[in-house]
Amino acid sequence: HRPLAEIDPDVSAAIGAELRRQQTTLEMIASENFAPIAVLQAQGSVLTNKYAEGYPGRRYYGGCENVDVIEQLAIDRLKALFGAEFANVQPHSGAQANAAAMAALLQPGDTILGLDLAHGGHLTHGMKLNFSGKLYDVAAYHVDRESHRVDLAEVERLAHERRPKLIVAGWSAYPRQLDFAEFRRIADAVGAYLMVDMAHFAGLVAAGLHPSPVPHAHVVTSTTHKTLGGPRGGFILATADLAKKFNSAVFPGQQGGPLEHVVAAKAVAFRLAATPAFRERQERTLAGARLLAERLLADDCRAAGVGVVSGGTDVHLVLVDLRDSPLDGRQAEDRLHDVGITVNRNAVPFDPRPPMVSSGIRVGTPALATRGFGAEDFTEVADVVAVALQPSPDVEKLRERVTALAGKHPLYPEGV
Ligand code: PLP
Repeated sequence: HRPLAEIDPDVSAAIGAELRRQQTTLEMIASENFAPIAVLQAQGSVLTNKYAEGYPGRRYYGGCENVDVIEQLAIDRLKALFGAEFANVQPHSGAQANAAAMAALLQPGDTILGLDLAHGGHLTHGMKLNFSGKLYDVAAYHVDRESHRVDLAEVERLAHERRPKLIVAGWSAYPRQLDFAEFRRIADAVGAYLMVDMAHFAGLVAAGLHPSPVPHAHVVTSTTHKTLGGPRGGFILATADLAKKFNSAVFPGQQGGPLEHVVAAKAVAFRLAATPAFRERQERTLAGARLLAERLLADDCRAAGVGVVSGGTDVHLVLVDLRDSPLDGRQAEDRLHDVGITVNRNAVPFDPRPPMVSSGIRVGTPALATRGFGAEDFTEVADVVAVALQPSPDVEKLRERVTALAGKHPLYPEGV
């Protein structure tokens, strides 16, 4: 019963250092966020001790009366949040949710059609080293070379040529909204299922600031830790007629015991996501991304070879185009790291540089919005990023501006 710092000072020290890193730098990795203390508490609870294979009311273990309450709360809140008929909250991650959703609807060897990883898709949408690329026959669609928008004419053409059993709409690095109704029309025309992976934009959908895929898709998958701001994890939504397929694909198909401590933290996050404060945060998230895109489109950035994929953003991230810049993605990531801003390098469509280097960075605003950043702060952040990407910036000076912003919006000021 001794505390962590006594039992394991090494791990304790590294966790402390990570807290300080999060507090003193500006987190702009588009897929990250800061979970509220209530979520951390639920996730760090005694629920981690409990086995609960099965579903509420139908478990393969005794003593599940409390976890049943918790998991049912998570299911009911999630269904209400997105207006879905069915929800499964057990997937351990977004990748697990996608694996289960595909296993429920497909046989190995069936064809799937998803957005190419190099154009903003996710590993689980058919990348060759991923389970999705190994188990299934993959066709990939792309974005248009000029507009950088998903080329729906290509989606339709490939759907008719390749006759996929499943079409995946969703992305990890794409700054625009997708036309779910059009995807569904194409899927119906070839008898395919439509799966929307809303991992990135689920928080925006929950807040009513992004079209919902739920009325259009046969199945919607997501993570819970990105814009949604909950614990790391995944979930599946579907129509009631497919409930059994998805439940048995998650357990026993893909997973054993659910992580009920994470399920509890998801329940807390879903409750918070239904509040006006959550919506207001998502509004600041979107406004921040727009301010960032506008600043990166200014003349000084253009002169430095810095551009914005698709010419702007409708979501929580900006994909910075460095194809004409002397800085490659890795150097830009390092430059911003030196300034105190964390981002990840990312391929841009039609990237001439190899993926490990790449010609882009993905910059997101959810975590800073959670810290309380508003328009004035995002304007300042945008200017720091813009200046940092230009030749020979004064890194010390930029670092001071970052430190001031971090100080203005303390993270976990009460401690964790
Ligand atoms: N789907 C999309 C669109 C993602 O962007 C991600 C994560 O980056 C995932 C799925 C996978 O989520 P996880 O990392 O929780 O497995």
